[in-house]
Amino acid sequence: MKRSKNAKGKPKKKKSFSGRRSKFCKFCVEKLPFIDYKDTKTLSAFTPERGKVLPRRTSGVCAVHQRALVEAIKRARNIALLPFATD
Ligand SMILES: [Zn+2]
Repeated sequence: MKRSKNAKGKPKKKKSFSGRRSKFCKFCVEKLPFIDYKDTKTLSAFTPERGKVLPRRTSGVCAVHQRALVEAIKRARNIALLPFATD
């Protein structure tokens, strides 16, 4: 039985992008008990342009801390430490 050739001979190329983000959770590494909403320096690192929160797959933050981070960012926005969607 002959089957049509499937693309097997293709070498898989791994994308190696330069602007790669850390794969570990920054907050787990630093063992912070909570994420300080007043720490705009840290928070703004996770809110690139437009004031959006960086997705987990990009930032490498774990689920627990991502949730805490979002909360902290929301709080920071409410007291005008961080911008809402700036467009
Ligand atoms: Zn974490």
